[in-house]
Amino acid sequence: MSPGVAEGDGGGLAASRAGVTQLKEYTRATVAKLEEAEHRVRDEILTYWEMCARERGSLQRGMYFREPPAVSVVLMSRRPGAPYDDSLSEDGAELVYEGHDIRREPGTDPKSVDQPWTLPSGEPTENALFARAADSPEASKPLVRVYEKLRPGIWSDRGLFQLIAYEYKSLAGRKVFKFRMRLSDTPDELVHQEEMDEFRRIIPSWVKQAVYKRDKGCCVICGADDQIHFDHELPFSRGGTGLTPENVRILCARHNLEKGARIE
Ligand SMILES: [Zn+2]
Repeated sequence: MSPGVAEGDGGGLAASRAGVTQLKEYTRATVAKLEEAEHRVRDEILTYWEMCARERGSLQRGMYFREPPAVSVVLMSRRPGAPYDDSLSEDGAELVYEGHDIRREPGTDPKSVDQPWTLPSGEPTENALFARAADSPEASKPLVRVYEKLRPGIWSDRGLFQLIAYEYKSLAGRKVFKFRMRLSDTPDELVHQEEMDEFRRIIPSWVKQAVYKRDKGCCVICGADDQIHFDHELPFSRGGTGLTPENVRILCARHNLEKGARIE
């Protein structure tokens, strides 16, 4: 209770009214801030394959530095037993991303030695490339696409972050990199929309193989097996993707054309 309450009801009431007004204002500002952040946070769910298609390659490591203006990539996880201690603020806007250990080799525990700046070849590690970029002038600090693992094979696109700073600090008897990143104001759509359209249109060969086998190489409507086409069941123009066999089927030329006429 505020001291005002003891001096008389009038003062106490006025004080608590002022408090309520302040609280309302604070709540309104906080909600607005969260809504604004939410607007920028993508949190789009992707399969591993969709993620790889977007990044134009199979992602096997956790960190990919790309010289700006290209967008770098990091994969993070906060799942139990995750190999690194990554943390994302509740509003999804502040990320502390841990650098990576040396590659596992017989006889060395990667968690017992300092995280490396150089590879055995003498080339800089991804840690070193990110660290160097974090030290670059404000205007040329790199953008980083952050993906978070939700379940095996399922990822979330956490959006575009700006790499801000790094530390190389002692933790449990060894040195580890900590990269600080903040959700960027750069409109994500500018970076991604065209690429996404292109990728959803593509039907990768593993999907074609699965569909060919499932549909036995024949049109699913009439069973014809000549002049067959792979067809997006839900067209990519309506958000369908060629990246999963579920949305792809075989049609003969005739039924493919008929479908096209219906859609236009
Ligand atoms: Zn047909």
